[in-house]
Amino acid sequence: MYWASSCGGCEIALVNIHEKILDVDSFFDFVFCPCLLDTKKKDIEALPDKDITITLFNGAIRTSENEEMAHLLRRKSKILIAFGSCAYEGCIPGLSNLHRKEDHLKAIYLENPSTDNPSKIIPGTETEVKEGKLQIPTFYDKVKTLTQVTDVDYFIPGCPPEPHQIWNVIELIIQGKPLPPKGSIVGAGKSSVCDECERKKEDKKIKKFYRTYEIIPDREKCLLEQGIVCMGIATRDGCGAPCPKVNMPCVGCYGPPEGVLDQGAKMVAALGSIIDIGDVKGISEDEIVKRIEAVLDSIPDYAGTFYKFSLPGSILGGKKE
Ligand code: SF4
Ligand code: SF4
Repeated sequence: MYWASSCGGCEIALVNIHEKILDVDSFFDFVFCPCLLDTKKKDIEALPDKDITITLFNGAIRTSENEEMAHLLRRKSKILIAFGSCAYEGCIPGLSNLHRKEDHLKAIYLENPSTDNPSKIIPGTETEVKEGKLQIPTFYDKVKTLTQVTDVDYFIPGCPPEPHQIWNVIELIIQGKPLPPKGSIVGAGKSSVCDECERKKEDKKIKKFYRTYEIIPDREKCLLEQGIVCMGIATRDGCGAPCPKVNMPCVGCYGPPEGVLDQGAKMVAALGSIIDIGDVKGISEDEIVKRIEAVLDSIPDYAGTFYKFSLPGSILGGKKE
């Protein structure tokens, strides 16, 4: 297990399979897992190629070190799995693709009120000291997904993946059952979260969107019908819809459903067909635009809402230089 640019939640998700971790331990040797073991990179380099049965690679590719480890683990592993939303689609670190690298460094090292940096130093990749040259990894211009830098066998979605789904995949391998074709998404369904959600669904017509703190939604009715942007309609099932179950909208962490290329575009298309701007008979085009804009104004952050997990892997990818 390796973590690249990520929060650590994917590692915790593996431990969340609870006592089944003992089955994993009796079937596999853990050779590499930075949060549990002190294996060094040189130990992995010393292994014969394809010596590792499976690597669960979590985290996006933000730095040259992340990419170097992706290539190394690809070479050393029979099966390389992009584990979790960051490795699969870029996830929340990928929202930084909305800004340039220089803007990030400025915001973090020069403008951040809690950073004490009177000499206005921005870290470089090489620093000369009297003992020699110190190096740190290069911070890339953009966040990339794992498959954008190396060949990936399978993808397990989720932020983080749900433990029962992680176990489903591991169990398949332990039992020696045939694996799906290379490139498949495993540990998830093919449909949408709405199919797993038990809320009552009726006609969707929305006059205004609400943020979650603005209303207390009815616990039985579809959240989207109540004006809360729930991404269930544009998100792959498999998680069991835990978020709508506790009266919170799905924010889309399982990525797009089967056959959908771009999750944000799918959601925008869905909303386009359910926004209600009233009777438009006899009103001017300007007035129609005004009404549409009034509804859209109630969504404060389009990228963070529709592409929270999928920007680097989406058709848009991020902002053009
Ligand atoms: Fe459930 Fe959300 Fe789909 Fe409505 S939009 S059915 S609340 S997952
Ligand atoms: Fe992720 Fe949506 Fe499932 Fe919640 S309901 S776990 S946000 S896919």
